[in-house]
Amino acid sequence: MARTILPVKLHEKITVIIDDIRIDGMGIVYVTPTYPLYIADAIPGEKVFLEVIQVDKFSGYAKVIEIIEASNKRQNSHRQYLIAAGTAPLVNLKYDAQLELKQAQIKKLFQDKNITVTVEPTIGMHNPTYYRNKTIVPVKWQGGHLTSGFYRRGSHELVPMTDYFVNDQAIDQAIIKVRQVFENYKITAFDPDFEKGTIRYIMIRRGYYSHELMVVLVSNESALNFEKEIVKDIVAQLPEIKSLLFNFSPKKDFVLLSPNNRTLWGEDAIHDTLLGYDFIIGPNSFYQVNPQTTEVLYDLAAKKAALKPTDLVIDAYSGIGTIGITIANRVRQVIGVEVIPGAVADAQINMRANNINNADYILADAPKQFAKWQSERLQPNVVFVDPPRRGLTRELIQATTKMGPDKFVYISCNPVTLVRDATEIIQNGYHIDGPIVPVDQFPQTSHIESITIFKKNS
Ligand code: SAH
Repeated sequence: MARTILPVKLHEKITVIIDDIRIDGMGIVYVTPTYPLYIADAIPGEKVFLEVIQVDKFSGYAKVIEIIEASNKRQNSHRQYLIAAGTAPLVNLKYDAQLELKQAQIKKLFQDKNITVTVEPTIGMHNPTYYRNKTIVPVKWQGGHLTSGFYRRGSHELVPMTDYFVNDQAIDQAIIKVRQVFENYKITAFDPDFEKGTIRYIMIRRGYYSHELMVVLVSNESALNFEKEIVKDIVAQLPEIKSLLFNFSPKKDFVLLSPNNRTLWGEDAIHDTLLGYDFIIGPNSFYQVNPQTTEVLYDLAAKKAALKPTDLVIDAYSGIGTIGITIANRVRQVIGVEVIPGAVADAQINMRANNINNADYILADAPKQFAKWQSERLQPNVVFVDPPRRGLTRELIQATTKMGPDKFVYISCNPVTLVRDATEIIQNGYHIDGPIVPVDQFPQTSHIESITIFKKNS
C-alpha cells in the first residue's frame, strides 16, 4: 500500500497565520488546502510559531510556542491552566469576540446547508464568570495530598485547579473543603489507570437564589471508610449544605453518576427558583447550569412561541419540568416527556409545588412517545424540544410534523445537530420563523445555545 506523504512532520516547527476557528474553540491553519492543523488558544488572523504535536492521516495538532502577532481580540486572562484542561477554551478571547464567534458559527452552519436565516447577535452575560451552579470534579493523590482538578485533555494527568473561573465561587470553596476532609481520613481516590480506589468525583450543586448546597460523593466502592466522621466534618465545614449524598458508581458500569444514591445527611434534593417558580432538583436530574441566562432563554422562547390560553403544548426532553411549569399558566395544557425516572418524579413534585394543575409528565423515550402521540392523533399547538447535544431523531421530527403544531420551538445546545434537524423539519412542511437567537449559556467555553422557531407552512 502506498504511504501517504503528509504535509507536516511530528515535532516540526513552523510559522503560520491562523485561518479559522473550529466549533470546539480550537484554532485552525490549513497547511495545504485539505490538511488542517488544530491548535488550542489560537485566534484567526494571528501569526504564531507552532510545534506539530500529532500527525494523523487527514489532520494534525500543534501547540503554540510563541505568538508573533496577536489578534486584537485576544486578552491575557492569566489562566492558561484552563486551556490545558480544556474547560474554558475561549478564556483568552475577549468576551465580545466570543459572542460574535458564536453568532458567526451558527450563521455559517446554516449557510453551508443553503438555508437562509438571520442570526441575531448572541445575548451574553454582564459578568460572564463564576456562573455555573453545578460541577463534578475528579480527585487524585499527588505529592502526599489529595488534589482536585481536571484531567488534561485526552490524558489521565490531573491538572490541579482550585479556581475554575466558571463555577459559582461558593462551589469552588466547597470542593476544597470536602477534599480536605477526605485527605484527613486518607480516603483513596479512584485511579483510572488501575481502576482501583474509592472516591471518583465530588459533585456540587448550589441554588442560585436559594443558596442551598448539595454535595454528592461519587464512589467506586459501595462503602466509605470513616463514613460517620466524614459526614460530621463535611456538614460542619459547609453551613449552606442541605443535602449530602453518596453515589455508588463503579467505573465499569457508569461514566459519571449512577442512579444509586444514599442520603448521608439532610434532604434527598435541593430547591431553587427559576422565573419565580420553585424547583426541586435531585442528584441525577438535568438542570440548566447557568441560571441567569436560563431565565432569559426560557422567557424569550415562551415569548417567541406566542402562546395562547387555548394551546395544548408539548415540553419534550423536559428534565424536571422547567419549561412546561413556567408556561403552564398561559396555556390550556402541558404534556412533557423525559427519560430519567428521577427527573420525571421531580417534575411531578414541581408541578404540585407550584400549584400547576394542567400539566402531566410522562417517563418515556421522547421519539417513542411522539410516535405514540401521533398514532393517537394528538393535536398539539406548540411543541418545545430541548434535546441533549445529539439532537432530535428523524422519528421524532416526522411524528411532530405529522401532528402538525403551528409552532415547533427548538432550544438547541449544539448548532451542528440543530442544522441537521432543521433540514429535515423544513423538508416536512415547516419554515424558520424570524431570527435565530443565540443565548450564551456557557461563557468562556465553545458551547452555543440557541432558540429557533419553526412555523407550519400555510
Ligand atoms: N428542558 C430541560 C432539560 C433539557 S436537557 C431543562 O431545560 O432543564 C435534555 C433532557 O433530555 C435531559 O433531562 C435528559 O435526561 C433528557 N433526555 C435525553 N434523552 C432523552 C430521550 N431519548 N427521551 C426523553 N428525554 C431524554
